[in-house]
Amino acid sequence: MTDSKWIEIDGSHGEGGGQMVRSSLALSMVTGKRVRIENVRAGREKPGLMRQHLTCVQAAAEISGAKVTGDKLGSTAITFEPCEVKPGDYHFRIGTAGSASLVLQTLLPALIIGETPSTIVVEGGTHNTHAPPFEFLQKAFVPLVNRMGPSIQLSLEQYGFYPAGGGEVRATIQPSTFLKAFDIVERGDIVRRQVSSVVSHLPMHIAEREVDVIQRGLNWDTSETLCESVRARCPGNYLWIEMESQHVTEVITGFGRLNVKAEIVARDAMDEARAYIKADVPVGIHLADQWMLPLAISAWQSRQQGVQGGGKFTTQPLTLHSTTHLSIIEKFLGLKPTIESQEHRTQLVCIA
Ligand code: ATP
Repeated sequence: MTDSKWIEIDGSHGEGGGQMVRSSLALSMVTGKRVRIENVRAGREKPGLMRQHLTCVQAAAEISGAKVTGDKLGSTAITFEPCEVKPGDYHFRIGTAGSASLVLQTLLPALIIGETPSTIVVEGGTHNTHAPPFEFLQKAFVPLVNRMGPSIQLSLEQYGFYPAGGGEVRATIQPSTFLKAFDIVERGDIVRRQVSSVVSHLPMHIAEREVDVIQRGLNWDTSETLCESVRARCPGNYLWIEMESQHVTEVITGFGRLNVKAEIVARDAMDEARAYIKADVPVGIHLADQWMLPLAISAWQSRQQGVQGGGKFTTQPLTLHSTTHLSIIEKFLGLKPTIESQEHRTQLVCIA
């Protein structure tokens, strides 16, 4: 094979973080195209592969029998040549509090298309800042993917917070040979909502103060709140605001931080929830960048098989994560998604 057949990714482009590595691995496995990534995470304070990203590379290599170079901590250049994706039972350990969700998200695209089921267990962090927490994956992302044909079931076996990790997430995946076309342009009425907060090795009043701020601020009922004490290896505090609408469920999250008052953590999450409610769109800022991948795979499959695939969705203003994702999708799949600005700064994204 010649070099021209490599997909070349400049990891310093756009968002410049780990998402470029994960999405490149995912699309490399789906398409069978080999990829060379340079300047890995050049946009970050500590560039190169951290434990979580390295686990993504190793896990992707294991399920696809890939030939890999540069798969070591701190590496800023990797090559990945997938062979055949082998569904099955796998267990991956990140070894730090690195996000288990992000490892799962790297593997899911390749395992949700096909015929044979898989079970994936990932040990690491389950509730990390700047990553999809377990409830976001379980209640927002996975139900949407399941509406395209596959059946993914997620379970949280053990909470894992930063810095000790030790959490565990299990995914059972019944794939579908084809991801069905799927539009989601309207949110509809919010039919159920709940604000929940959990603490591990921390006083319960932290959780109670957080849900109190949000319940009062959003004018919800006290019956729409939940506080729980959970056991993890280290102290941790996490809250999530779940809004189930007619057409989608969104989950907005907040994390307790040292020297930051519970009320501030709650207010930040509440502001994000308010912006989502006001925008009156189904897909929030984080779901938007993650949802692009399955949608693009569906569009790509449809072109190959001559059936209808892909779809459109409306969302809030696109983040840099989203626009970066679009460029990766274009590189691997040759698709040119369109973005249409609508009233109140909302966006209509079409991937077909
Ligand atoms: P780094 O930024 O250190 O390279 P990374 O690999 O952890 O790190 P990013 O490239 O920043 O991550 O990607 C983070 C992903 O996590 C994005 O897809 C983003 O949408 C998602 N994400 C971040 N915060 C949340 C959140 N609160 N809820 C859901 N998803 C989130």
